[in-house]
Amino acid sequence: MLAADGGAPALATPVGYPWPKRDPRWIDRVVAQVTAGNLSIYDRSGVVEEIEDAWSALHGVEHSLAVSSGTSALHSAFYALGIGPGDEVLVPAYTFFATAVPLFQLGAVPVLVDCDVRGSFDCGHAESLVGPRTSAVVVTHMWGLPCAMDQVVAFTSRHGLGLVEDCSHAHGATFNGQLVGTFGDAGAWSMQTQKLIAGGEAGMMATRSRDVYDRAQLLGHFNKRAQAEMDPSGDLHRYADTGTGLKYRAHPLALAFAVGQVAHLPDWIQAKQTSAERLRTAFEQVPGVSVVTRSTGERISAHYALLLAVDADVIHGGRDRLADVIQREGIEDLDVPRATSPLQTYEIFRSPISPVHTYTGSSVRSELPRSTALSQDTMKISVPCFPAGYHAEDEHYLRSVELVLEKVAESTEALTR
Ligand SMILES: *Cc1c(COP(=O)(O)O)cnc(C)c1O
Repeated sequence: MLAADGGAPALATPVGYPWPKRDPRWIDRVVAQVTAGNLSIYDRSGVVEEIEDAWSALHGVEHSLAVSSGTSALHSAFYALGIGPGDEVLVPAYTFFATAVPLFQLGAVPVLVDCDVRGSFDCGHAESLVGPRTSAVVVTHMWGLPCAMDQVVAFTSRHGLGLVEDCSHAHGATFNGQLVGTFGDAGAWSMQTQKLIAGGEAGMMATRSRDVYDRAQLLGHFNKRAQAEMDPSGDLHRYADTGTGLKYRAHPLALAFAVGQVAHLPDWIQAKQTSAERLRTAFEQVPGVSVVTRSTGERISAHYALLLAVDADVIHGGRDRLADVIQREGIEDLDVPRATSPLQTYEIFRSPISPVHTYTGSSVRSELPRSTALSQDTMKISVPCFPAGYHAEDEHYLRSVELVLEKVAESTEALTR
């Protein structure tokens, strides 16, 4: 009998997916950084230079900029594109809100675009929202699955729009072999503790454009770094000493913890493909359950999480009931992602405010049915990446999920209508 119906849970000890791993080498780097007394880095040196160079080399771009968070990476990218008061930016409705909220600091107007059935930016819908004030697009590769970047790039090129990619779920994901974050004017990544490259609180912005790089430094990296790194012949260099009002430097301890992870990213992404397929097989034994974010030939997901849809016409009680059933069998990691409620559910998008702009309308300009449906019907689970030294831990997690799903699949009668 299912634990939710009073039976014994399949797992005697509940299982979560421990992340980030505590690789002793990463901890040693943090300790070394503290021991050296290097807790603020004013220029592009030390661990800042090391992680930026690793990031640029991995992505084949000229410039990477370590920052304090994914949110500040996005703000820096928008500022660097020259987005200002009254400019409209097409943003995904289906994302974590930090993708778009920094736009309010610039007085820009986010305009919500619906997703397709896999949670990706819907260029067809975006097309209908382009107007004379539209200046840029930001897309999020949700749960690690790259958007159809051929379509996104064709769309932004056709309309002459700037393009920012929020890759906070998608470190190391590729579209047609090209890493996400390299398709547009700038990529932004979070290195918050849950993310695939985890520093705790840190972020990264990357770009091929010298101009974007310089302006991002002007926003958040005043004085030593901006003076040394900005193009001395550029128009804005005379402001490098003071910057323009923010400080977005990354904490060296966060970078020290994260820097050793970067080289492992390609291996982790590869291992995750196998893990995701095992999870898919396990979950799809249950009627009414399907994987939303499966990798395809051209779209290799970073599988920040595997997104699963539950058909409420098949499973009695739908997503919420099935999530509860699986959690009670002992899979603590299975999660209903409430932090990614679609943006139309938040007050700031319905009734925007900004310190530098007075809004006359809302960010919600149309029906957004698919983002609403996805947020109601889906749940997510971590996909293990089998880092060296943690194979047993990750196999235990995966095996536990498989065991639980075998039991749940055998209890179909108790679940279906
Ligand atoms: C985590 C995240 C952010 C914000 O990153 P922080 O480092 O927490 O500021 C932005 N967008 C998405 C999609 C995220 O998952």
